This record gives sequence, structure tokens and C-alpha cells, in this order.
Amino acid sequence: MKRPFVTKAQLDEIVKTYPTPFHLYDEKGIRANARRVNAAFAWNPGFREYFAVKATPNPTLLKIFREEGCGADCSSLTELMLAEKCGFRGQEIMFSSNNTLAEEYRLADRLGAIINLDDLTHVDFLEESIGHIPETIFCRYNPGGVFTLGASKDGHQVMDTPGDAKYGMTRPQIAQAFRALKAKGAKTFGLHCFLASNTISNDYYPELAGILFRLAVELKEETGCDIRYINLSGGIGIPYRPEEEANDIALIGAGVRQKYEEILVPAGMGNVKLCGELGRFMTGPYGCLVTRVLHFKHIYKEYVGVDACAADLMRPAVYGAYHHITAAGKEDAPCTQVVDVTGSLCENCDKFAVDRPMPALERGDLLVIHDTGAHGHSMGYNYNGKLRSAELLLREDGTVKLIRRAETPEDYFATAIW
Ligand SMILES: *Cc1c(COP(=O)(O)O)cnc(C)c1O
Repeated sequence: MKRPFVTKAQLDEIVKTYPTPFHLYDEKGIRANARRVNAAFAWNPGFREYFAVKATPNPTLLKIFREEGCGADCSSLTELMLAEKCGFRGQEIMFSSNNTLAEEYRLADRLGAIINLDDLTHVDFLEESIGHIPETIFCRYNPGGVFTLGASKDGHQVMDTPGDAKYGMTRPQIAQAFRALKAKGAKTFGLHCFLASNTISNDYYPELAGILFRLAVELKEETGCDIRYINLSGGIGIPYRPEEEANDIALIGAGVRQKYEEILVPAGMGNVKLCGELGRFMTGPYGCLVTRVLHFKHIYKEYVGVDACAADLMRPAVYGAYHHITAAGKEDAPCTQVVDVTGSLCENCDKFAVDRPMPALERGDLLVIHDTGAHGHSMGYNYNGKLRSAELLLREDGTVKLIRRAETPEDYFATAIW
């Protein structure tokens, strides 16, 4: 059973100061998880997890990750600016973008960030943009086709279609890019690849590592490039559904180590440093969206209307994603009804849950929408004039801190020209 990291008593206190809806993050959970990730890869000297900023671009959370020894993975100009403002410096910043603007490369270069090229044509474009080629450079690989991992013990099959993805370079292109970069003065190379998102399998990272490690050995022979970094990127998932089992990061780290010792070490590449760019796995379970029951509606179906909407959490509306919902204080109450939990957008997809068994509810009840810590607030938008909610941090000492205020109508009007 999934239980919120916050109790009804705590929530009743919090809502005295901060009106619903809001996203609440659990500092203790975030730090403990970051330490587990770092411990799982401690066998690899130089390993660094670069937190994928887009998952939860909140300065307070980024500073927590920096304290835990993580870097920042950015994909845009403003994410780079945010990383700099949060104190990340030089190679603590990974810039993994696509369809990149010249000004983004210029800022990444000025910050000394590691630049990860998404396309062969960007070898020349980068040089035009910044006037040189950095000594350390990464390239993103796309193997094409369909990536599948056989059903793992918990019955989950991982499947994604890199052949349909806009990212990365083909196998011949990546060799060509490495040669061209070397000819232009690059000294140290990195490889990056992202094959599947939200994988609930301890085999995903080891499988991807096997593909990248073999590629690194081949590319070193073909091009003579000194490959020192392999970036396994994001994609480790979290159990959104109560019946799903969490990934075991220690097992994942051990699985990657086995591939490293099988493939890289015998090839004389035991000096390769690994990187991660995990987003969802770092914050997803340690955030929730707290919202209040406003209305009940009985038509052809039963509806529970709440004060949050898809502007606060888009995933159910755009991907039909499952987010578990708990009524605070009714954790153990039997589910006696099946309802749709809806927001107020004039879009029928604005439902946090469809046909969801829930306990008896009353107006004013607080609902905790689980696992909104990644790709939650950050995907928010202003459709229907909805204002994005506040973000709060439940600190390790149990106190609560406002880490982003809710938007106001003034924010909404700020960009309009009258
Ligand atoms: C989104 C993204 C990530 C993070 O992915 P998660 O699935 O949240 O772990 C990492 N790297 C890049 C380049 C991304 O675009």
C-alpha cells in the first residue's frame, strides 16, 4: 500500500499557513535517495549524478543536490542560468540539449559546462557559435530500431522506440563526429544515450551500459579518441502504481559494475568515469500535490472536483499517467466508491484519476496526489488562466518552508502588452 510521506496532522498544520493546492517535497527522502545513488556507484571513481533540472527546477532542491555531491543536467538557456545561480560550476554542469541555440552553447561554454552534442551537424555549429571546440566533449548516440528488455521478475516489459526519437546520432555519424572533433582539437570524449523512460526494471541501466561500453571500445579502436566518460542519462523509473515494486539502485549499480568489468576493463578502459542524469528517480516519489475536495457531481459518472488542475500536474492529462491518490486521514478506510477526480479546466482530460476506487469523501478533505516530485510542477502551464501552485519543502526537522510562491494574477498579466 502506498502511504504519503506526510500525515493528516502535519497537513492540517501546513494548510493553516499555505492554502491548497501546493506541491510538497520531502527533504529527508530526497537526501537519503541521493546518498543511495552515490553509494551504488561509489565503486567508480569520478562517478557523478547530474540531476536533470527539468524534472524539478527549484533552486532550493538544486542546492540540496549540490550539497549531496550531484551536478546539474541542463537543456536550455534558463536551466543553465539557474544552475549557475545555484552555485554549480564548470564540469558540475552537463549541457545535454537538442536543436540547440547558439546563445545556449555560448553560455554553456562560458560556464565551462560539459557540452553533449546531439547531432553531427552541431560539430560545426558549436565551433561557429563559440569560436572553438572544447577539450572535453560528449556525443549522444541513438541506436535506432526498437529497444526491449524482456519482462523482468515483476512482469514489466520495457520497450521504447529510439528509431522514432529525435535525439542523438546514428552509429556511422557518431564515429564521424568523434573524428571531426578530434581533428578540431578535442582531447577527451564522452558518450551519452537515453533509450527508455520510466523503466521499472533493475536491468535497464546495466543493459544500456553494455551497449555504450561496447560502443566505446569500438569507437576507441576506430577513431583513436580518448573516451573517458560514459553518461547513462535518465530513465530509471519509480513505482507510480501501488502494485509496482521500486527499483533497487544498489542492484542497478552492481549490474553496471559487472558490465564495466566485463567490457571496459579488459579493453584497457578502466579509467572511464560514469555519469547519470536521473530526474524522476531523484525526486519523483519525494513530492506530492496536496489539493482539497471542493465539489461532488453525480451525472452519468461520479465526479470529485478538487482545487488543483492539470496546470499543476499535467501527466495524467497528457499521457494518461497514473498517480496514486490518498485521502489524508482515510489511509486505511475501505474504498466504497469509484470516481473520477477532476480539476476545473475546460478540457475533459483534466482528470487526476479516472474510475478510481476511493473511500467516502467529504467537502474539504485533503487529497494527496502521490509521486509529483518530478515532471509535476515543472510541466505546469497557464491554460484557462490557471496560476501555478506554490512549492513547499518539508525539512528534515519537520518544519515547512515555502520554496516557491504561488503565481498571482499579476504574474499572469506581466507579459501582456495592453
Ligand atoms: C528528461 C531527461 C533526463 C531525465 O530523465 P528521467 O526519466 O526523469 O530520469 C535526463 N537526460 C536528458 C537529456 C533528458 O532529456
